[in-house]
Amino acid sequence: MTAFGFELLGKDGEARRGRLTTGRGTIETPAFMPVGTAATVKAMTPGAVRETGAGIILANTYHLMLRPGAERVERLGGLHDFMNWPGPILTDSGGYQVMSLSGLTHVTEEGVSFRSHLDGSRHMLSPERSMEIQGMLGADITMAFDECTPFPATRDAAAASMELSMAWAERSKAAFKARAGCGLFGINQGGVYEDLRRQSAEKLTGIDFDGYAIGGLAVGEGQETMFQVLDFTAPLLPHDAPRYLMGVGKPEDIVGAVLRGVDMFDCVLPTRSGRTGQAFTRRGQVNIRNARHKDDPRPLDEDCSCPTCRNYSRAYLHHLARAKEILGLTLLTWHNLHYYQDLTAGLRKAVEAGGARDFARDFAHEQAEGDMEEIEA
Ligand SMILES: [Zn+2]
Repeated sequence: MTAFGFELLGKDGEARRGRLTTGRGTIETPAFMPVGTAATVKAMTPGAVRETGAGIILANTYHLMLRPGAERVERLGGLHDFMNWPGPILTDSGGYQVMSLSGLTHVTEEGVSFRSHLDGSRHMLSPERSMEIQGMLGADITMAFDECTPFPATRDAAAASMELSMAWAERSKAAFKARAGCGLFGINQGGVYEDLRRQSAEKLTGIDFDGYAIGGLAVGEGQETMFQVLDFTAPLLPHDAPRYLMGVGKPEDIVGAVLRGVDMFDCVLPTRSGRTGQAFTRRGQVNIRNARHKDDPRPLDEDCSCPTCRNYSRAYLHHLARAKEILGLTLLTWHNLHYYQDLTAGLRKAVEAGGARDFARDFAHEQAEGDMEEIEA
């Protein structure tokens, strides 16, 4: 089996073009990972997800441990067989969602005990249990167990949270059972504080992970602050390992983060927005439920080659959304995921050609132009 590894193919300023190799396939970076929370990218078959250009998806430890249960998934042959996705899968550690979704959470040095948001049953997550669950799921990329520092946090609170996460990172590494072609990522924390981010980076580099995530961002701090944190955090991470910005983001966040040296992204936005009638296009966001689309025979995005834009009009998508037809969710999600894959493919090309800054400028210009003129009925 192919060994897990990362190759930095080129740089343009801080922006990077790379290649991540796993036992289940190669991922060209910068890369966007669609979110398959409960072992499904909502409203999409795995084949459709693959057709958008996605090379890797994310699945959630917290959701899967509660339902259908990690032991059951393992008995059924692991997550890849269970959901029919043969490509690489990254699983999160469960740390973020246990804090945001479950009730009666109790955090100690040992780990987090909590009640399920589904049935109130008691569970425990610790670095050791998280590694065990991600192993049973069969993750190609396992994430260290961490505490996502809330925003805002005082320096003292951010320091204590970061130190807890670093202790858990060490235990995650010790508990992780290496499997051929698979890797373990550590997660940098420290809130908005540069010295804490530096301490965290030094600690993680000392433990030695296969990749490094930047956690605790996109939690309400705003884009400007997020970019400032990336400006000082990304250079602290090893240049020969992949860098993953967790839970980000909007198209403009991704473009800005790539310019600052990030390689990997995941976000629920393209899938979640697809289910609420929101589409991402080259000319900004479009709400297909808006009445202006009801007689519009044009595609959602005239420069998009996805099946939705090739075959269906705005008028039809508007009708499906208004009539709450299931196909509408699929068609909008398909377009949104395709758009995100086109965006990262465009960024990869731009970095290769030394034109990342030009790409970002053209992107911002097109987004600012706004949606095409309304059609006269
Ligand atoms: Zn499209």
